[in-house]
Amino acid sequence: MILKILGSSSKGNCYILENDTEALIIECGVNIFDIKKALNFSFAKVSGCILTHEHKDHSLSVSNLLQFGCPVFTSRGTMRALGLPVDHHRLNTIAAGKVFQVGPFKVLPFEVKHDVVEPLGFIINHPDCGNVLFITDSYYVEHTFKNLHNVIIEANFSQAIINAKVEAGSSPEFLRNRIFKSHMSIETCKKTLLANDLSKVQNIVLVHLSDGNSNAVEFKKDIQEATGKIVHVADAGMTITLNRKPF
Ligand SMILES: [Zn+2]
Ligand SMILES: [Zn+2]
Repeated sequence: MILKILGSSSKGNCYILENDTEALIIECGVNIFDIKKALNFSFAKVSGCILTHEHKDHSLSVSNLLQFGCPVFTSRGTMRALGLPVDHHRLNTIAAGKVFQVGPFKVLPFEVKHDVVEPLGFIINHPDCGNVLFITDSYYVEHTFKNLHNVIIEANFSQAIINAKVEAGSSPEFLRNRIFKSHMSIETCKKTLLANDLSKVQNIVLVHLSDGNSNAVEFKKDIQEATGKIVHVADAGMTITLNRKPF
């Protein structure tokens, strides 16, 4: 199974999990043309798109996907916030704790903590990649997870970098408070990872890094040292093999 990264920042987030015959779109916060191009201009193997929340950097192309006949799965709160017609036949309401099926992908949504109505995280299961944990735009996660094979998790900023900026007067206090209550720091990312059994995990993919408040090289090193796992820092255009076992 391949993870294609179309975007992973406040400018746009979109991931495609695919093998030769099947594909799942995770978030659609990039231009629809980029999504079509990544799919070689065919939705034939796409089972659907799962969407965590309404912010434009995650949901930009949701209406286009529905127009193209691509089923979209998201929470009722997110649908309402986006002004989507809840009775649309391609739109599927999902809720925390209730497993649903998108073609060959089995998905368990769970609650996350973000400054929106009803944001979700996902555990995505497919025989090729096992259980893939997907967490973005969440300053904290209450749950722990079993039997993970791959992890995609937000590492938006470094508390140390932001604290230094506030002390130096180059970043206002209110902004720090907003970021700390909406996005996941590398410090929380590390704690979240270490709270889980990572013994079967093959890959950790760090996503949604902030332009000014992160350090990709240090984040990667930090998580690699803490977990002993293969760590990737997501960037647009990147592809990563997410399998269940190492080759
Ligand atoms: Zn975001
Ligand atoms: Zn957001």
